Amino acid sequence: MLRNDQLDQWDRENFFHPSTHLAQHARGEAPNRIITTGSGVHITDRDGTTLLDAFAGLYCVNVGYGRQEIAEAIAAQAKELAYYHAYVGHGTEASITLAKMVLDRAPSNMSKVYFGLSGSDANETNIKLVWYYNNILGRPEKKKIISRWRGYHGSGLMTGSLTGLDLFHKKFDLPLSPVLHTVSPYYYRRDDLTMSEDQFVAHCAAELEALIEREGADTIAAFIGEPAMGTGGLVPPPKGYWQAIQPILQKHDILLIADEVVTGFGRLGSMFGSDHYGIEADIITIAKGLTSAYAPLSGSIISDKVWEVLEKGTDENGPIGHGWTYSAHPIGAAAGVANLKLIDEMNLVANAAETGAYLNQAMADAVGGHGNVGEVRGEGMLCAVEFVADKASRTYFDPAKKAGAAISGALLKRGVIARAMPQGDIIGFAPPLCLSRAEADEIVGKTKEAVEEVFADV
Ligand code: PLP
Repeated sequence: MLRNDQLDQWDRENFFHPSTHLAQHARGEAPNRIITTGSGVHITDRDGTTLLDAFAGLYCVNVGYGRQEIAEAIAAQAKELAYYHAYVGHGTEASITLAKMVLDRAPSNMSKVYFGLSGSDANETNIKLVWYYNNILGRPEKKKIISRWRGYHGSGLMTGSLTGLDLFHKKFDLPLSPVLHTVSPYYYRRDDLTMSEDQFVAHCAAELEALIEREGADTIAAFIGEPAMGTGGLVPPPKGYWQAIQPILQKHDILLIADEVVTGFGRLGSMFGSDHYGIEADIITIAKGLTSAYAPLSGSIISDKVWEVLEKGTDENGPIGHGWTYSAHPIGAAAGVANLKLIDEMNLVANAAETGAYLNQAMADAVGGHGNVGEVRGEGMLCAVEFVADKASRTYFDPAKKAGAAISGALLKRGVIARAMPQGDIIGFAPPLCLSRAEADEIVGKTKEAVEEVFADV
């Protein structure tokens, strides 16, 4: 086995890490962590430190670490058949079974599932399919895509454009021109604090309607949104938001893509966020919870309405020119089948609802009254604490203070991993769905200590 100092040196000399301060990492100024193993909600690093992972990796290890059932399914598939492609009608028992299991769980208007590797490539697929759809319908001008500021839809050229966070655009020449951004459904951070929740929802709807009118409905193909926003700050929608948005999209014949990469398979305490909020999407993006990240796999669930046009397209034009070498990879599919079974057997969707509500309430009780806590919010097994310099005016901290990062650092010292969200002083919790009440208490207790420590001098 390699020594830790050797690994550290190789890491800094050779490994280009995603979403990392490259210079600080290469120079050894930022800490690294080399993970060796995990069990349930815990991971252990090379130094033997065990941490409670209250963000489930990147909110993806939904069944928890170390599930032997999934590891064995992966091993069995690798031994039997590690790979065959899915082009021109090929498949495996695992990929066919998984497609059926996904459709059995998805909203009833859904027809087929296309498998990719990541949330980003699934959303790239979705945009291509939406363009194809409008070309087949003879509407070549109807191509623009609306997403929301603070939405997160991936890191590709198109998906990075859809993402509405500055960090993912800056110096990358993004967003690309077919992408339009509309108001973020972020009630706490509304521009006009005198607006009630109903008024704010009406404002979001009016802004969307105005954008469509400005651009022309015949130029807009689709609207993409996460049922509850994730990376933008773990923001559940204001009440009635989806009910206000959907009729506008329908009126203008604009497709709705529900990006359920985070919310799919139980995170909100419902199988899909679409069920949770009454969303009737035309396409649903899935990834993370599909395999609980035991293997890379994503999917685009296509509605009957879109599927019908795709079929017509291939009757007119021949096979669809879209595929990845690893679409429906057998190892990912085997992991997905074992993972979805485990979610049912462990009753994790119900646990996300129950223990998630417990976590959110306990967090609000513990830190909600603190002078630097602006809001505690969440839904299911998602919980966020937003920090402010001044509670009444909701003033932001000076970004140089890095208040969110300071809290996540103070939590790490206490053995809990939480995520300092990329925009704003927001600390996010999205633990594995198997979290127990005792583990929720540990997260909350240590968050309270971290908040008291970091803001002791404010
Ligand atoms: N969509 C949402 C809602 C996400 O949260 C993410 C990743 O966090 C993505 C898409 C992109 O997924 P990936 O990182 O697998 O490309």
